[in-house]
Amino acid sequence: MKKKIDKRLVVVSNRLPIVIDEEEGNWRIAPGSGGLITALAPVMKKNRGLWIGWPGCGEEAPLQKLFEDFGKEQDYRLKGVPLTEEEVEKYYLGFSNETLWPLFHDLLGYCNFSLENWRTYQEVNRRFASIVAEESKDDDFIWVHDYQLTLVGGYLREEGIKQTLAFFLHIPFPSADLFSRLPWKIELLRGMMEYDLIGFQTLRDRRNFVNCAIAMLPEAEVVSRLRHYTLLRYGSRKVKVGHFPISIDFEEFNRGARTKAVEEAAWYLHENLQGRQLVLGIDRLDYTKGLPERFLAFERALEKYPEIRRKITLLQVVVPSRTLVPDYQNLKELLDQLAGRINARFAEQGWIPIHYVYRSLEPTQLLAHYRTSEIALITPLRDGMNLVAKEYCAASVDQNGVLILSEFAGAADQMGKAALLVNPYDIDGTADAIYRAFTMEPEDRRQRLSLLQTIIRRHDVHRWVNQFVSSMKGEEWRE
Ligand code: UDP
Repeated sequence: MKKKIDKRLVVVSNRLPIVIDEEEGNWRIAPGSGGLITALAPVMKKNRGLWIGWPGCGEEAPLQKLFEDFGKEQDYRLKGVPLTEEEVEKYYLGFSNETLWPLFHDLLGYCNFSLENWRTYQEVNRRFASIVAEESKDDDFIWVHDYQLTLVGGYLREEGIKQTLAFFLHIPFPSADLFSRLPWKIELLRGMMEYDLIGFQTLRDRRNFVNCAIAMLPEAEVVSRLRHYTLLRYGSRKVKVGHFPISIDFEEFNRGARTKAVEEAAWYLHENLQGRQLVLGIDRLDYTKGLPERFLAFERALEKYPEIRRKITLLQVVVPSRTLVPDYQNLKELLDQLAGRINARFAEQGWIPIHYVYRSLEPTQLLAHYRTSEIALITPLRDGMNLVAKEYCAASVDQNGVLILSEFAGAADQMGKAALLVNPYDIDGTADAIYRAFTMEPEDRRQRLSLLQTIIRRHDVHRWVNQFVSSMKGEEWRE
């Protein structure tokens, strides 16, 4: 049963949940897509909520008018936080994406520790906090999202805000050993400890955070460790640290995958690939996703199990992302080279082993790819959750799909029972999993997929929102 949420919810995130575009002088605003927006919208509407964030564009758009239009249509309000180009570069591309992102994904080698970027990150977090303070009322719940805004809680307390403050980290939280490399670790932890509730994706992330807090902050100690959260004392305050694995709208993906349009698109996809087993990878271009290792594992499978040649194709969709960051440009080049080399080595008349596509897919195509692929190969080196893994299972309506999943994806906690778990650094082990999936009997596939669907259906994104908000209100929930 959905809980009634009576207080107003103020959501704070780096980006507002909107798409703004302009055609011949006409500006338009629409809600963005994605599970989080879909899940939060009903809660925001019910309580006439407020969403605060960067609009993603500058002064050129008539924002005030667009936000008014949005408020009338969607029943909740938007408030923009303006950012200059330099701030976007240093706070967002710099500190958020070149320091916290790689560090929190255990990839220290990609980290750029720049004092200037850190200072801009602090300034921008302070600006978010002062806008939240101006806009909020005494009995609001304030829910801040993700690694770009860790310090907002601390600055809100400096502004004298007493309301319940909650934070959810969508990406992993690293071990104390790794986190301690951050030159500003104490400031960051202190900022986070000003929230009343801190949510992580997995138990591992929650434990890592608790270990960092008690090891690095003398005034932090554990009061109790319960199933759903750990209670910390921090000076005179108590802080709840929990884990809340994010999810998808299962019914939407499952229903969507059953439509005629998707069925037809799925049929064409396979038709073009002449009845082979399709191994699907769908990822943003990101060094955390383990793409080169995945290509090498596929190559190893072809080498080690020659009988699968001509009968299997890796269909890898790479969605362009952070194209201005040099590490991402280098990764793109490496993938181009690897796909070229492997295809040149194994391709035969009428068969190319790797179909590598560098663009995003529109929704019908995305669902068709999920529905038609016999195997999903999802092997991030580290991932907060990985929604593609959940979407693949929800959309595999013929129940003939096998999920190969990295043990380092947050999703492995819930899905490890029925997926084939792999260590993405273990090229041979992943190659063996590809072969095992290829040769898996239909009944085994069906049983595993059906279990995965049951898990995701039960733990969908609506439940995630309700559990988090209940926890923010100090209520307990039942599994
Ligand atoms: N996605 C998309 N268009 C595409 C391919 C993927 O919108 O062409 C979506 C996909 O449906 C999923 C999200 O991008 O919801 C990726 O989320 P995930 O947690 O797997 O990884 P992230 O990109 O957040 O690291």
